[in-house]
Amino acid sequence: MNIAKNRVVSIDYTLKDDKGQLLDTTSGSEPLEYLHGYENIIPGLERALEGKSQGDKLSVKVPAADAYGLRDDKLVTTVPLDRFDGADAVEEGMQFEAQTPDGYRVVTVTKVDGKQVTIDSNHALAGLDLNFDVTVAAVREANAEELAHGHVHSHGHHHGHDGHEHEDCDGCGGCGSN
Ligand SMILES: [Zn+2]
Repeated sequence: MNIAKNRVVSIDYTLKDDKGQLLDTTSGSEPLEYLHGYENIIPGLERALEGKSQGDKLSVKVPAADAYGLRDDKLVTTVPLDRFDGADAVEEGMQFEAQTPDGYRVVTVTKVDGKQVTIDSNHALAGLDLNFDVTVAAVREANAEELAHGHVHSHGHHHGHDGHEHEDCDGCGGCGSN
């Protein structure tokens, strides 16, 4: 069965940056399972997988613009130190989750200057070209509920493109507890 829209795809992959540094891998864990054609994974990788089938191996270089996007300077902002709980402990390099219009994002403290804190909410992989080595582990038809939700239901939970649980799936019997 070929990879096409409305099919559920399982892939094993290793992800490295341009310097060869390992960023992510499914090695030692379950393959990543996703519903093809719904932008559940980065666009450049989804396009490269189109038409492949079980057992196929591919190496894909995905430019930043087709991965997690270019870095956006507007996502770097300054907030007063007293907005933070435990302000004494705020230091450069700290990361925390913040709610944004796009859902929860990991935000990094890049500078603490007196009473001002500079935070960066770009995705950690924004601006990076990504190099994937992928093996297609399985391809199957999606069920009706998966198609209605636009994502996979498996193992009692499911993952978004960034590996975080979806938040938009309340009352979904196939999704387990969200
Ligand atoms: Zn669901």
